Amino acid sequence: MIPNDFDFLRRVSLIDEQGERKVRMAYLAVIASHQVNGVSALHSALMVESIFADFARLYPDRFTNVTNGVTPRRWLALANPDLSHLIDKTIGQTWRSNLNELVELKAHADYPLFVAEFRAAKLANKKRLAMYVARTLGGVINPNALFDVQVKRIHEYKRQLLNVLHVITRYNQILAEPDKKWQPRVVIFAGKAASAYHMAKLIIQLINDIGIKINNDERIADRLKVVFLPNYSVSLAEMIIPAADLSEQISTAGTEASGTGNMKFALNGALTIGTLDGANVEMQDAIGGDNMFIFGNTSEEVSALRRDGYNPRSIYENNKALRDTLNMLASGFFSPSEPERYRVIFDTLVNWGDHYQLLADFEAYVAMQAKVDALFAKPDLWARKAILNVAAMGHFSSDRTIQEYADRIWHTRAVKL
Ligand SMILES: *Cc1c(COP(=O)(O)O)cnc(C)c1O
Repeated sequence: MIPNDFDFLRRVSLIDEQGERKVRMAYLAVIASHQVNGVSALHSALMVESIFADFARLYPDRFTNVTNGVTPRRWLALANPDLSHLIDKTIGQTWRSNLNELVELKAHADYPLFVAEFRAAKLANKKRLAMYVARTLGGVINPNALFDVQVKRIHEYKRQLLNVLHVITRYNQILAEPDKKWQPRVVIFAGKAASAYHMAKLIIQLINDIGIKINNDERIADRLKVVFLPNYSVSLAEMIIPAADLSEQISTAGTEASGTGNMKFALNGALTIGTLDGANVEMQDAIGGDNMFIFGNTSEEVSALRRDGYNPRSIYENNKALRDTLNMLASGFFSPSEPERYRVIFDTLVNWGDHYQLLADFEAYVAMQAKVDALFAKPDLWARKAILNVAAMGHFSSDRTIQEYADRIWHTRAVKL
């Protein structure tokens, strides 16, 4: 095919000959494999449109999608016994091996007794996490506050820093309008950094420094607390996720292949604030846009900005709340013993191109966080949407994922036990 198109041959070569010669390992994998799949619909589409576009022309049948899932035995039955017991009482126990049965919960989202028991299970999980925080970090957090949770590996593309910018902005807003009725929030982070990933480690230090400042500011009281839980692991995730009200899934659109944390949270009755990235897109199809807080640029808008020119400094200059927040990083407000500590974060975002486009999504993110507060003030409406989230999660069972691999990729059948 296309034997004389030398540009095409150069593009699909296993050896990159521009500059130092390198083996293109991903291309080798594509050529050696009988099937290649992405792990969400968006990821699979981006693969055949971008990095593997030439191979998708050569081998159109090779590329497919298998959207990730999570196991309901670990992530609901084991991690959340109170909610599991309520579900058992309501629709029976067989959802453990047929997660689509959760759709039967939809009919119960308007029953006051069911809603009350659903809320009681969430509150018990939040109290358990508050006890753990008191034991490991020493601070007191209010279980009636909104638990706003971002737990995942620390990476610039996952944008823990966008969450941080909102936290600082909220701190400034509370100080500017202390008499307004603020929704109390506890913003909880956890996640490890790769050992040589300097920026990721600096982000962890920043979250800890911000916690020291805000948690000890008596003017704030319990309206805002910031917690970083060390040693994130599956065991810790099993405790944190069932206690979350709000799930932060805010990666730059086009960068998160699927995400599975997003699924674990929704399955445990947290509402998602997120971008249209990875499996969030399919979660929105299943859950309905009215029952999530979707904001920010789409993957097409992110690539258009990268292509046509993106100017983060002009966003910084034109948004006062953002400017104040970023200036506090540059001036050492959170690191008085070392004022230059977070200068590199300011420069990355304002002067060095903001590769992950945090500033482009900042205004929409802060506006959506205000909508989160407004809904949380109506506990039964919030709980209703949370129940509709749980009810819609059937598709995101890893049993469905594994069945798809068995049917369409491995061509094997299950052994009956
Ligand atoms: C589920 C899980 C992840 C993946 O989380 P994402 O939000 O999808 O990145 C990472 N670490 C642990 C311990 C998990 O349980």
